[in-house]
Amino acid sequence: MSQVDSSSAKKSTELTLIDKLSRLSYQQTLKLLGSDGPKLLRAGDSWDFRIEEDVYLNEDLFRLKFPLAPGETESPPVVTISLMDPSNGRLRWNCTVCESLCEHVGAAFSFILDEKMTLGLAAPPPERVPVESLSEQELIERAIEERRERARTERMIVKSAEPEQPWTDYAVSNTISGKTYRVAVRGREPGDSYCSCPDFRTNTLGTCKHILHVLAKLKRRFTETELKRPYHRRTIGVHVQYRDQATLRLLLPERLDPEASEVLGKLRDRDIEDVPDLLKRIQNLERRGRTINIYPDAEEFIQRRLLQDRIARRVAEIRRQPESHPLRRELLKAELLPYQLDGIAFAAGAGRAVLADDMGLGKTIQAIGVSELLVREAGISKVLVICPASVKSQWRNEIRRFCDRDCQLIAGSIASRGAQYANNCFFTVCNYEQVLRDILSIERVNWDLIILDEGQRIKNWEAKTSRVIKGLRSRFALVLSGTPLENRLDELYSVVQFIDDRRLGPAFRFYNHHRVVDEKGKVLGYKNLAELREKLQPVLLRRTRQSVSQQLPPRTNEIIRITPTQEQIDLHHSHMRLVNRITRKKFLTEMDLLRLQKHLLMCRMSANSTFLVDKKAPGYSSKLEELDDLFDRLFSEENRKVLLFSEWTTMLDLIEPLLKKRGLSFVRLDGSVPQKLRQGLVHEFQGNPGCRLFLTTNAGSTGLNLQAAN
Ligand SMILES: [Zn+2]
Ligand SMILES: [Zn+2]
Repeated sequence: MSQVDSSSAKKSTELTLIDKLSRLSYQQTLKLLGSDGPKLLRAGDSWDFRIEEDVYLNEDLFRLKFPLAPGETESPPVVTISLMDPSNGRLRWNCTVCESLCEHVGAAFSFILDEKMTLGLAAPPPERVPVESLSEQELIERAIEERRERARTERMIVKSAEPEQPWTDYAVSNTISGKTYRVAVRGREPGDSYCSCPDFRTNTLGTCKHILHVLAKLKRRFTETELKRPYHRRTIGVHVQYRDQATLRLLLPERLDPEASEVLGKLRDRDIEDVPDLLKRIQNLERRGRTINIYPDAEEFIQRRLLQDRIARRVAEIRRQPESHPLRRELLKAELLPYQLDGIAFAAGAGRAVLADDMGLGKTIQAIGVSELLVREAGISKVLVICPASVKSQWRNEIRRFCDRDCQLIAGSIASRGAQYANNCFFTVCNYEQVLRDILSIERVNWDLIILDEGQRIKNWEAKTSRVIKGLRSRFALVLSGTPLENRLDELYSVVQFIDDRRLGPAFRFYNHHRVVDEKGKVLGYKNLAELREKLQPVLLRRTRQSVSQQLPPRTNEIIRITPTQEQIDLHHSHMRLVNRITRKKFLTEMDLLRLQKHLLMCRMSANSTFLVDKKAPGYSSKLEELDDLFDRLFSEENRKVLLFSEWTTMLDLIEPLLKKRGLSFVRLDGSVPQKLRQGLVHEFQGNPGCRLFLTTNAGSTGLNLQAAN
């Protein structure tokens, strides 16, 4: 057993274990574990933990059970981490097998750091000065200073292509992550140089920690005179220039020979809009044996532009009159509503898009339609759907219902999962947790289209899963989100980053421009939203139920399947065991039958909330959590009226606080309401626009007419 203090911005005494673990960084953990830290943390790679079965976490205790190796029969190690004493905020840990600090504890910390999002632990890191109070210039300086700091402190290995001169190409490797980036250093000012890292592509600063690291080394290695000599370009290149917008540009030597000058001269120092024209000119020169260096990001830019142009023409044709377009009947096995075909065309045309329609408008069918349309227009053949585990089989059902493409759900051991991703199946459906585990197999596949269902789940940018998901590459992408993102700017930012990592600019500038904060950095509200909406218009489509109400059928059914919590499952199992014991008997007495009914009832109740069975507060219920989420979405819609049935009045008791915390007005009708008062409640719901919800038990509702609900 051991103990260490770790620092934090909030006073230690106020922190729960969950707060503490949320704030735990890699560096702090290294400090906690002492000199063997890196080795101990790497031990985490030796085990594959199942979140549902092996992990327990509450406000005071984290417990991780290690799986038994095959053939082992002794009890497996269990590591617990808790707060030593709430008043001093120190972490303490224990391993049931080892005496001193061991690799099990290391693995437990490594697991916590990796799975913060899944464990519900992630919180954004504390900020030194709220970015919202800085000017544009201060922002840029601060952002560059942060990168300079990392360039100073992180260890990197630099290899020069021509060591005798400063302005040349470098390979820069990070000694911790092992990643290597290509850096072309052409001068000391931001914007002079290029790096292939993701930060450089998106930060609009014209520099990154790799470039700054190389520049610092050059300053020690070369004299001031040597560094003052400007770079003389000798070759012709095409690159993307990252200013406010990414634009395609030529890199030309100062003196261009007559041949090249005739073909490319007039494009010097200009943003290139006409991509087909540029390609013709490049081909022209290459046919004469000239070499033109197209940087990887420029190549990607060109490809995307060409395909977009072609699809854009097709999409414009569909969107002119979706209601009478033949694709409504031909695209899928079911007839599409006009707004659905329009949404499909929009998403396919945008290439990478967010579809944030109100619930129940058919986002899944539109996603399947996008896949079909892209088969026809862009020849795609591999689609990855990433969704919550609970809706995987629902996706397969819908795919079978609406089209004839084959579909697989990822399952099984690591090795067999790897083979599944790589096979020829058109639709591959996996859940968010699998992405992190299987990332190497997933990255090896050339996905044409990636669909994120419930895309707002990638909101937390600190967690590893969200980083991994944002790093996934595909030509096309579609995010389905059930939450109106305008109310949640951080979710919106994350989602759009996946779609187009440059559209909203770097995070520091985005928050500065759209968040209103007080002097302590607390968010008070949002601003410049009209401008934001305009910026998002090309990639985000959101239709409300009201805006398409005339196209909608009178009623649609949607079944949402919800995975119970471990506590609910345990409770359910304990009663099922008793049920099994009774049903195995040869003869059932009256008492047996009564008991059987009782235990079956308990099973059904535990599926709603453990509180219904054991009356122990707070009770565990994934249904209530989902309902809480659902309320967010439903009541953000104007004029939404909801009718909610539950068999149990206790369940209604548990639901009421969810409504009260939102200040929603509702009526409740259960068996305890006298007959003569019932009609009044119905009138209230039917007639008062402010009354949003009708809560009732099955028994209470018979014979009542509640058409106001929608
Ligand atoms: Zn141990
Ligand atoms: Zn870089």
